[in-house]
Amino acid sequence: MKYSDIANKGVQSLSPYQAGKPIEELARELGIDNVGDIVKLASNENPFGFPESAKQAILMQLEQLTRYPDSNGFELKAALAQKFGLTAEQITLGNGSNDLIELIAHTFAAEGDEIIFSQYAFIVYPLISKAINAVAREIPAQDWGHDLAGFLAAINQKTKLIYIANPNNPTGNFLSHAQLEEFLAQVPPHIIVVLDEAYTEFTAARERVDSFALLKSYPNLILSRTFSKAYGLAGLRIGYAVSAEEIASLLNRVRQPFNCNSLALAAAQAVLQDDAFVEKAAHNNRVEMQRYQEFCHEHGLEYIPSKGNFITIDFKRPAAPIYQALLREGVIVRPLAGYGMPEHLRISIGLPEENTRFFTALSKVLSLA
Ligand SMILES: *Cc1c(COP(=O)(O)O)cnc(C)c1O
Repeated sequence: MKYSDIANKGVQSLSPYQAGKPIEELARELGIDNVGDIVKLASNENPFGFPESAKQAILMQLEQLTRYPDSNGFELKAALAQKFGLTAEQITLGNGSNDLIELIAHTFAAEGDEIIFSQYAFIVYPLISKAINAVAREIPAQDWGHDLAGFLAAINQKTKLIYIANPNNPTGNFLSHAQLEEFLAQVPPHIIVVLDEAYTEFTAARERVDSFALLKSYPNLILSRTFSKAYGLAGLRIGYAVSAEEIASLLNRVRQPFNCNSLALAAAQAVLQDDAFVEKAAHNNRVEMQRYQEFCHEHGLEYIPSKGNFITIDFKRPAAPIYQALLREGVIVRPLAGYGMPEHLRISIGLPEENTRFFTALSKVLSLA
């Protein structure tokens, strides 16, 4: 007997999530002592680290580690509600937004139900769909992004959930407010639409989707946000969903009672007030994204225009050797073969000097210089 034979059917078809290579792992492989020599541009983390305000909040909270965290996250929810003009009852906190994406699937879908998402969309959507034995309806991408007409055409009696990442990871594609509104207007109200806005803080204010306004018109919508990217707290694991109160009440029944730890709750509450930190990261992202685009134009490299804090380059040939060669230069980026994009690499936008390191390394690897 193989244990895989007795695992849930959906689980049998799963491959493990492939995370960006940790700096320490590459240092071991290359025999490098100084991890400072390695540049990691692989997991869309904040190159500025996390704000001092978070550190202070964590230190204050340390003394309380013996106690269970506040299961209801009262203070963080209050801070979110205040900042965005919501009620605390609309908010569900998660152990990262991955937790929320999973929680939503557990709450609304089961074996045989259909879950719609796009080809090349965030890989956690197919992962959770398969894990619960739901039917993953992957809609072929259009220019690497969401084909919303294709989504609508795929809706049937069994459709329970729709996941949309905006901007999408790993492609960076973006849907405008108008496009989303037109789509939502055509989705039957008994189907839950999850709008995963992990990168929304990087979008210029004039382009940003007013998703809170959409929520008012479309109560079947759930927004998912995270403190992992613009707020720089990926290691703490904290995110939040915003929805109709009735939906939040369901999600809050299904989640683990203590899914968010006390350090994460305290730090998230602190950084929420730190608009200057987020703006610094967003500004760096805009300026440096421009440098990436110029680099690509200069060297005839094709890329997918991105509204995230990363850019995905199409090398028009297998990218694995390029990825490996970059590793040997001490630069970690993200291969996308697991997404069915074996000729692309995704590069997270770093600090100016980190990006320069990447440009130099790639030029050397491709003999561009
Ligand atoms: C990074 C990312 C997340 C955030 O994950 P966390 O669990 O909050 O760290 C969610 N969705 C997408 C599309 C992402 O790229």
